[in-house]
Amino acid sequence: MVASEKDKEEEKKNKGAARGEAGTTGLDDIKECPECGSKSLIQDYGKAEIFCGDCGLVVAENIVDLGPEWRAFDSEQMSKRARVGAPMTYRIHDKGLSTLTTWGSQGQGQIKLKKWQQRTHIANTTERSFIFALSEIDRMSSALRLPMNIREAASMLYRRAMKQHLIRGRSIEGITTAILYISCRQYGVPRTLEEVRDVSRVGQKEISRAYRFLLRELDLKVTVASPIDFVPRFCSMLSLGGDIRSKAIEIIKKATERELTNGRGPIGIAAAAIYIAAILNGEHRTQKEVSVITGVTEVTIRNRYKELSEQLDIDVLL
Ligand SMILES: [Zn+2]
Repeated sequence: MVASEKDKEEEKKNKGAARGEAGTTGLDDIKECPECGSKSLIQDYGKAEIFCGDCGLVVAENIVDLGPEWRAFDSEQMSKRARVGAPMTYRIHDKGLSTLTTWGSQGQGQIKLKKWQQRTHIANTTERSFIFALSEIDRMSSALRLPMNIREAASMLYRRAMKQHLIRGRSIEGITTAILYISCRQYGVPRTLEEVRDVSRVGQKEISRAYRFLLRELDLKVTVASPIDFVPRFCSMLSLGGDIRSKAIEIIKKATERELTNGRGPIGIAAAAIYIAAILNGEHRTQKEVSVITGVTEVTIRNRYKELSEQLDIDVLL
């Protein structure tokens, strides 16, 4: 919403970080997604950014051409992922204050009044922003059906960010979405970036930016999500029962032991494990169905499913 100095500074920092300390080596340092550990990073030439093919985090922006080792990607392919709805504009109304100007006549009184107005204006703005942020957290939490404790954790995190003056000049919509995303992770009920984006008023890039910014400024440690964390919710969304849930978790545990999950996004692993488990339990869900629910592409599900079934010697009869 607001393109401020802060954003520009941050962009510069991101650029610097993306290029590494030396600043000359291109993006060689970025080998995997800092969010999910996936090695499937994709360069979007059209938008000059790199994003994670598994979780969708925008890892770097404003990049220069990286050369042929990066998979070419046309942002139009992603058009189906393009979000609907425009960001909402947050207006600060000046109700009440204008009527107060009649108080001051001239001289000292006028100056005092001006100062008072400025202070009140800042206080009001902060308060209104906070109220708006809480309503955004509430709105998105309802849409995502999050329990009350996560809404509270998100509100507290927002308050913390506010105390550290991290909000001013930034998009409240972006910050609140990122905060909700972080809180879900911290409470072990992760939502995918796609899921939060679908209920947010801002796009994936802005959420990613706010997410990276908050992790850095608040020094938050968010561990990589386990594929297992996604299984219960995905299963219930696919109307798959407890047997399949347990089977999927078992497959994920075996895959983790055998280190098959390294460099793979957790959501794709969860999707493939559920896909396999469903077939093994005689309740076939198509790759498309699993894709729609999990947000993982059918290609990724197919790849993960092949790897897992081959490496773990699982006979999947379709
Ligand atoms: Zn990722």
